[in-house]
Amino acid sequence: MYQLHLLRQLGLRVRVFEAGTGVGGTWYWNRYPGARFDSESWSYGYSFSEELLAEWDWTENFAPQPETERYLNLVADKFDLRRDIEFSTRVTAARYDDSGRSWELTLGDGRRHTSRHVVMAVGPLSAPTYPRLDGIDAFRGPSWHTGLWPKQPVDFTGKRVAVIGTGASAVQAIPEIAKTAARLTVFQRRPNWCTPLHNAPIDRQEMESIRARYPEIFRRCRETAACFVHTTDPRGTFEVSAEEREAFWERRYGEPGFGIWQGNFRDVLIDREANSLLSDFVARKIRERVKDPATADRLIPKDHGFGTRRVPQETGYYEVFNQPNVELVSILETPIERITETGLRTSERDFEFDMIVYATGFDAITGSLDRIDIRGAGGRALKDRWKGDLATCLGMMVDGFPNMFMVMGPHTALGNIPRSIEYNVEWIRDLMAHMADRGLTVAAARPDAVAAWTGFVKKKGEGLLSNEVDSWMTGVNMNVEGKQVRIIARYSGTAPEYRDWCDGVAADGYRGIDLT
Ligand code: NAP
Repeated sequence: MYQLHLLRQLGLRVRVFEAGTGVGGTWYWNRYPGARFDSESWSYGYSFSEELLAEWDWTENFAPQPETERYLNLVADKFDLRRDIEFSTRVTAARYDDSGRSWELTLGDGRRHTSRHVVMAVGPLSAPTYPRLDGIDAFRGPSWHTGLWPKQPVDFTGKRVAVIGTGASAVQAIPEIAKTAARLTVFQRRPNWCTPLHNAPIDRQEMESIRARYPEIFRRCRETAACFVHTTDPRGTFEVSAEEREAFWERRYGEPGFGIWQGNFRDVLIDREANSLLSDFVARKIRERVKDPATADRLIPKDHGFGTRRVPQETGYYEVFNQPNVELVSILETPIERITETGLRTSERDFEFDMIVYATGFDAITGSLDRIDIRGAGGRALKDRWKGDLATCLGMMVDGFPNMFMVMGPHTALGNIPRSIEYNVEWIRDLMAHMADRGLTVAAARPDAVAAWTGFVKKKGEGLLSNEVDSWMTGVNMNVEGKQVRIIARYSGTAPEYRDWCDGVAADGYRGIDLT
């Protein structure tokens, strides 16, 4: 939406194709019970419009999905965006025409659309994946994926419900479903380290105080490594006494948001011993909160340390397993063998359900691009370009794919996503303005520029414990053909370093990008 707004300001004709019936992307599709921000609302909205900041009030520190969807609808209306968006329109293919120096898109209904440039703003977590299980279509009751949740609210009252998966989406949904379901069975493969969100309402007075601090909040987000308001503590884990360390972790565990992950000692995500101490601390918390020791033990990860996968933020998640209507099944111990007409079968027994919830995640980072048949110069498929080695120019362009840009592409800075989106969108706008001013029609990333950026991304990933763990952040998804091997799927340097590099490229007349 922001890209449309900015490119229109340049006087370009812009057309947006959107598969949903409304705006919002992630916040349109992920309307499962309990879905909400786990970054502070006031650091997560758009920062580009003073008027919008003055007009919009967040009502909770971590806004629930309906509020965010309302916010994004307000943005669409305020900037009159809808007239250039075609809803219910999925792009199935994109082909670069060498002679016309333009892109031809194929739309779901077979129509074609031609444009000089194409911006892929398809999202890094928007291609939902289901388990590859026998009988997946056999179940006679309703089933939903958290990332494709229906608009009509689902009533779990008195129902027997299965949730498969225990990632960030499941961890938000499970406590909500457990409130009304007659029986909730959670099928967990690998447990995650989850920490409390500590959400709270924002009253009018507090909102005014936040509004007055917006410049300072956004400045802070620009300065921190991952654009969050939280930032790494400069001390090393072993530079403080055991008592001080424990007190620091207690404080972080008791504070709202990602502080315990993003605001911890500087070495906890690279030093095995430091990470192991922190993991022990969080494991103790889980044991304190879950009454049955065997269940607590099942909920504690054994195959990775704290913070080396994306940390789900929870509200009463662990306490849910003390409820008599909730059961945890470890499918590491008793694997799911098949989905049946009435439920599912594990190696141990048959379960009957009225509803199944798949909280099984996404074909992340490249999945939504892979689902479009993208062909660059000479008809080369993007999938083939990336086979075996993901490579980009600044996460925004790929050699051999002229005039194609990506917002939140692979190897861009992720972190606090809207902050990173705003930066990508403005950089792309500036490049298009530069081209328009000079009558240039083609922007093509050079292979040496792609190699340089990709080399830097790989270097920044060295030594990170997270790169030794299977997760969407290392490009692994067992449900997707060919994604069983870990790769450096994301940029893990700091956002300021990323922006310095991109700003430098622009200041050098778009060094490494052939403009003709
Ligand atoms: P996810 O973190 O990838 O979790 C998927 C879950 O499904 C995992 O527990 C996984 O187990 C399990 N699973 C996958 N395939 C399975 C199979 N065949 N059988 C059994 N279990 C299976 O996905 P997600 O929870 O949707 O979250 C994805 C990302 O979206 C998050 O990391 C976060 O970045 C974002 N998100 C953000 C928010 C927010 O901001 N508030 C909320 C939700 C999600 P394994 O771990 O064993 O593979």
